[in-house]
Amino acid sequence: MDIDSTRNKKRRHPLGWALWLAALVLVTATLLSFRDALDKAHVGLIYLLLVLGAAATAGLGAGLLTALLTFLSFNFFFLLPYHTFAIHDPLDWLILGSYLVTASVAAALLTRAEREASERIRLAREAEHAAALREIDRLKDAVLAAVSHDLRTPLTSIQALAYEMASEGDERAAIIGTEADRLNRYVASLLDLSALNSGALRINLEANTVEDVVGASLAHVATALDGRAITTRVGEGSVMVGRFDFVYTVRILANLLENAHKYSPPDEPLEIGARQVGDVVEITVSDRGTGVPDAERDRIFEPFYRPTGSPPDVGGAGLGLAIAQRLARAQGGDLRFEPRRGGGSTFTLTLPAAKLPAVDALTPAS
Ligand code: ADP
Repeated sequence: MDIDSTRNKKRRHPLGWALWLAALVLVTATLLSFRDALDKAHVGLIYLLLVLGAAATAGLGAGLLTALLTFLSFNFFFLLPYHTFAIHDPLDWLILGSYLVTASVAAALLTRAEREASERIRLAREAEHAAALREIDRLKDAVLAAVSHDLRTPLTSIQALAYEMASEGDERAAIIGTEADRLNRYVASLLDLSALNSGALRINLEANTVEDVVGASLAHVATALDGRAITTRVGEGSVMVGRFDFVYTVRILANLLENAHKYSPPDEPLEIGARQVGDVVEITVSDRGTGVPDAERDRIFEPFYRPTGSPPDVGGAGLGLAIAQRLARAQGGDLRFEPRRGGGSTFTLTLPAAKLPAVDALTPAS
């Protein structure tokens, strides 16, 4: 929220101006009935109070208008000759001029002080709110890490027992094993997410070729993709070298390929491409699926986000892209979505290109 919108939010009473004009008439009538007993200073001070009241409750405009009206009324009713705007004593001009300046400056200062005070309160509230959110986040990560960690040991025992029983021919045990595997992957993702959030994940940045990482990712998902056609356009003749963590990059690409497989018709080939643009390498994974609606393009990278109405049997817990994007950023790269021309999705992973020594420097001098 910016400062202007806060100022605009401050509601003035709609009757504020009218009430202060009525007060001005009332005060002037009262002062008039005691005119002979009053000194000019009394009139000036009482009018000044009126100006400050108008500025404080109805805003600067009302304050300045009251200053102007009281200035005229002061002259007309309380300075000789009465009931004209003419003035006999030149010193009265000094009184009137000083009154107008004092009233206007006081109204302006008062409204500014009031605005600054509410601005300070707003900033303090915002800071408090941000600190509370940070604390909630920290607690959430701590609970996530603790629970995930404690779940791993019993899960591993369940998996081991289930596989042992399955090897003895118990079909239900095979199902338990598969489900325990799924739960284990989910718990591992939760642990990774909390490690990424707290900056505790160790990233091993090294020079690697893009061809190798793409090849390893394709091998990694071969079983899950079940013989699906994949078009590869990598390098187009030149070797691309990036500076990235090989294992985590395989994980990002495997996740993108599995998503592309899950969210597009099986007879449409997937495409994986790579090119170097300046000092980054771009690896794209494209499909001809339904794509992602405009409103969800940023949200798909939020943890636990799954679009409303997505079938429960497709997809996971909505952690894949959140982890993939954080992993990309932790390596100095990024992961973003773009709609693919002709329909479908393109996910682009950018990673820093490796700065290699010039070819001349590698060639032995003859
Ligand atoms: P999930 O494990 O649910 O697939 P992800 O974080 O990998 O979680 O993806 C989040 C959501 O983004 C998915 O539920 C899906 O709606 C959408 N999504 C991801 N990849 C694609 C894709 N290639 N095409 C269409 N939608 C996708």
